[in-house]
Amino acid sequence: MGREHTYVIDGKPWRVKWVPRSRLAGDDGACNRRLRLVRIADGQTAEAELGSVIHELIHARLWDLDHGVIEELEALLSQAVWDCIGGT
Ligand SMILES: [Zn+2]
Repeated sequence: MGREHTYVIDGKPWRVKWVPRSRLAGDDGACNRRLRLVRIADGQTAEAELGSVIHELIHARLWDLDHGVIEELEALLSQAVWDCIGGT
């Protein structure tokens, strides 16, 4: 079984699951509200993966948020978390 985590978003459990990139049509991640499932492409660098997880979790919680704002938050939060955990 591959990597998978469960997180509570707005009171409901969501799964975050790593899958081959080929199953995401080449994208880094995908968010399915109906299934409460985030899929993340395997094989990313740790820093890129962090950004992808943050991006998709924001989609999950704030699905109608402007995509430019999501991309801004992805960049900001992934950099801040990366700096906090001492990533290089
Ligand atoms: Zn997006």
